[in-house]
Amino acid sequence: MIELELRRARAGYGPVEALHGVDLAVAAGRLTALLGPNGAGKTTLLSVLAGLVPLRTGSLSWQGKSVSGWSVAERVRRGMLLVPEGRGTFAGLTVEENLRVFARGRDPGAALAAFPVLEARRGQRAGSLSGGEQQMLAVSRALLQRPRVLLLDELSSGLAPQVAAQLLALARRLADEGMTVVLVEQYADEALAIADHVHVLGRGSVVFSGEPGELVDGVPGVTRSVRAGS
Ligand code: ATP
Repeated sequence: MIELELRRARAGYGPVEALHGVDLAVAAGRLTALLGPNGAGKTTLLSVLAGLVPLRTGSLSWQGKSVSGWSVAERVRRGMLLVPEGRGTFAGLTVEENLRVFARGRDPGAALAAFPVLEARRGQRAGSLSGGEQQMLAVSRALLQRPRVLLLDELSSGLAPQVAAQLLALARRLADEGMTVVLVEQYADEALAIADHVHVLGRGSVVFSGEPGELVDGVPGVTRSVRAGS
């Protein structure tokens, strides 16, 4: 079943067109990786899905329904959550306060179950956490809303390999539990190892769509592994 479908999607910023007519489908309950070199349009594509960047032409459907005109808030209400690059947590608030902002009456503690290390830091300000802990907080905050679709931008960026691996394993587990997960990653091998489907973007267009095993020579222009350095 198709969760999200972009057709001939064009989007950009002022005079810059970042997506030049993208056709792309995201399968429901699967983990889809979005790869490509810097500036290829990956963040723009996630932003279009989340409603942060409007489509100029083309269409976006969600479970068969046109949602191009939906606001970000409407998408969040219906279960589409974005964890942006840079995490977007409130540095001056504690871990618990960050969660409470989004908890809407739910128990923020439940969101921490996936990350025991954060549980121990409940009273600590988010700005004083390590990069990995801040990313865990950003993901926990999104999970509090029980998303149906989770959009993860550069989840492992700047993190130690074992922390990155922990977060990527969680993304895999969420997809196994039926969540639709779209993962933008800068390290191809780690993403390909866990993805069900992969789309490669190059200069605002899709240059490959398929299964990870089909990409035998790696992804052009993309660092293969976090272990190879960036
Ligand atoms: P990266 O891995 O570097 O984040 P990306 O694949 O996510 O790259 P985007 O960030 O989507 O690529 O950028 C696509 C194109 O849009 C690039 O040419 C970029 O310079 C341009 N762009 C992105 N954001 C803006 C902005 N806010 N204003 C103007 N141009 C932008």
